[in-house]
Amino acid sequence: MYYYHRVSDANEQAKDRSADILSQYNKLSQTGAIENLEALRKENRELDRLITDAAALIALPSVPLMLDFVIDKVLERFVPEFLAFVIEPPRGTRLSQFCYRNLKPSDETIPIECYKRLKDHFLSKPFSDHFEAIRDQTGEYPGLKAYSPELIFPMRGISGLYGIVVMGRKVVGETYSDLERMYIDRLSRFLSVGIQNGLHHQSSITDAKTGLYNHDFFMHRLEEEISRCGRNKSSACVLMLDVDYFKRFNDRYGHMAGDVALESLATAIKGLMRSSDAVARFGGEEFCVLAVDCDVRSALEVAERIRAEVESLRIDHGGESLSITVSIGARMLDSRAEAKQVLDDADKALYASKAGGRNRCSLFRPGLLGRASLARTARTGAQAR
Ligand code: GH3
Ligand code: MG
Ligand code: MG
Repeated sequence: MYYYHRVSDANEQAKDRSADILSQYNKLSQTGAIENLEALRKENRELDRLITDAAALIALPSVPLMLDFVIDKVLERFVPEFLAFVIEPPRGTRLSQFCYRNLKPSDETIPIECYKRLKDHFLSKPFSDHFEAIRDQTGEYPGLKAYSPELIFPMRGISGLYGIVVMGRKVVGETYSDLERMYIDRLSRFLSVGIQNGLHHQSSITDAKTGLYNHDFFMHRLEEEISRCGRNKSSACVLMLDVDYFKRFNDRYGHMAGDVALESLATAIKGLMRSSDAVARFGGEEFCVLAVDCDVRSALEVAERIRAEVESLRIDHGGESLSITVSIGARMLDSRAEAKQVLDDADKALYASKAGGRNRCSLFRPGLLGRASLARTARTGAQAR
């Protein structure tokens, strides 16, 4: 009997507690606190995802990979009809544009005057804005009509505002939710830092005039390749190029024509090489090429192909068609030779090409016989002139 009373008391107490909780829940629900809690939980989950995504994003090694990553993240949520990343690179005056239609790359471009006006609008605004609100404040944008923009996000880095993201309306039609907009706003802030980091890194390893790698980066690649050749028993070669009589070219046609010639030459050499090779401007009118996975025969073939390609280049100078030639020195890599030695030897072969009459290629071969052969090339060329 006593036991029965105890169980029944406990049941009553539990019932009272449940009723109490239910009444508190109802009260909280009436005040909207439960819904708020759910919304906060959702936002918390979004922030968690954002932190994970942002950490992955800024660790990516190139701007195109960062954009691909952002596209993937956007795709997980919705598909905008149109998306454009418009970036002012640290060098040069042209805008870099990455445009997507239904998230597939497209060659459409945002007109520069529209970009300039949007940039002015965002100079004092840190967050995204609805395009309609911008239009109400700053007037019509006929150049953007084809893109039906809905949201514009500013891109800011260490040097201030340097780009914008234009997001068209969703394919399915409804407008962006606050949560979606907040996620993209935040992710584009990380993207802005990542892209600027990537662009500055790119400028730090390339030459401003030609866009080729610079001297320091080439040395780094060369050292890496020498170690790789030792490890993998692979072979590679360095070609050193120098434009022939370039002072004369400048004196005759002017420095601007000389610059155009150097830019054309850089594009031509790059077009002949594989993406795993490295092409650098070493300084002035001297260039270096690292051709990987190639034996002596293909090294000489590559050198000759470059020489012939440069010789056939036509440089337009006020209606006149100009041409230049290069002399080339080649040196195979070997794991025992340091980078500096490899370059000194390639320079010796280049000197032999110059002394041999220019517009030609020579290969450095180590040892006495090699040296004798280079000297002979130089002598016979000099005699022939
Ligand atoms: P060689 O066949 O012996 O190499 O003769 P060269 O006249 O090419 O050699 P030199 O070293 O006497 O002259 C190199 C010239 O390259 C001098 C310099 O004005 C020119 N040069 C170097 N850098 C640039 C550049 O960025 N732009 C232009 N236009 N000219 C450059
Ligand atoms: Mg020179
Ligand atoms: Mg020269």
